Amino acid sequence: MKALYLTGKAQVEIRDIPVPDCPDDGLLIKIDSVGLCGSDVRTYSVGSAKINYPVILGHENAGIVAAVGRNVTGYAVGDRVVANPAIPCGKCYYCVNKAPGLCDTLEVAGTSFPGGFAQYMVFHGTMLQRGQIIKVPEDVDLEPMILAELLASVIKAQSDLQVGLGESVVVIGAGPIGCLHAMIAKLRGASVIVLADTSPSRIALSRKFGGTHFVVSSEDDLVRRVMDITCGRGADVCISANPSAKPHQQGVEMLRKEGRLSMFGGLPKDESMTTVDANMIHYKRLRVFGAYSYSAADFAKGYDLLTSGKIDSRIITHKLPLEKMEEGVRAIQSGKAIKVVLKPWMDA
Ligand SMILES: [Zn+2]
Ligand SMILES: [Zn+2]
Repeated sequence: MKALYLTGKAQVEIRDIPVPDCPDDGLLIKIDSVGLCGSDVRTYSVGSAKINYPVILGHENAGIVAAVGRNVTGYAVGDRVVANPAIPCGKCYYCVNKAPGLCDTLEVAGTSFPGGFAQYMVFHGTMLQRGQIIKVPEDVDLEPMILAELLASVIKAQSDLQVGLGESVVVIGAGPIGCLHAMIAKLRGASVIVLADTSPSRIALSRKFGGTHFVVSSEDDLVRRVMDITCGRGADVCISANPSAKPHQQGVEMLRKEGRLSMFGGLPKDESMTTVDANMIHYKRLRVFGAYSYSAADFAKGYDLLTSGKIDSRIITHKLPLEKMEEGVRAIQSGKAIKVVLKPWMDA
């Protein structure tokens, strides 16, 4: 089978390797679609402490069951499935205390074991035992289901932020995550949703996805625009959904008193320091939220929203064969693509 290996920083290689064996307690999956995630782009471009080269990335996987382990019941060859790729241990402090996304030994497909940047991959027994493999009905499109994983983290972040009816929400970063944040904020009842990005092309692409106001922050003063839109009071919520530190300070400036800031986007590991005016947090009594990972319940909620048609999957702008993964990375980085999906069976 064909597999795309990341062999070093910004180095990829297509290899012809044997199809993996189906474990007795797991499933062998023929990959239909796999998302090229922002974290994959970051791992490709700057490396990651979590991986060992060579590695087959890919954690946003949807596919078809090609073989069923001899001890597995309830699944058959031909079933269409999507997988929650984050496997908590179920035993540590955080697992026991209802925060499995923070599991001390969280395993993730594409990092802890080979992912979906290949024609086949294995869904392990632990994924089945934890109910992490969801069957997709025949009348539901399989490809958009790769968005369930992104959605899960967006749903988790906004439920922590308690985004509510009539609120104003500013999302800084109009990539796939930013667009999903706008859609979820709308579903939760926010009435003003400002999508901002430094890239004019990304703003142009994101206009149909839930926002009410759009700001190109490289050309316009974002903080001033938000103050105008909110009649001088400031926004209720600001979500920084991008890999840079500057929006954190914009966030504390644009929020109203007791506003909530989510540091949703991770920063590159060598540039992880941020500067904010602490007195703004102090005097305005701001609340600052971290955001990382999600639970199986968040993933299931994301899946339900996708199948019920509440999420606009047109944020998938590019579908590429494995061989063109780097083209996908460039399209994301230049703001020409929102979401890129790799199709391992598509001809190069
Ligand atoms: Zn992802
Ligand atoms: Zn755990």
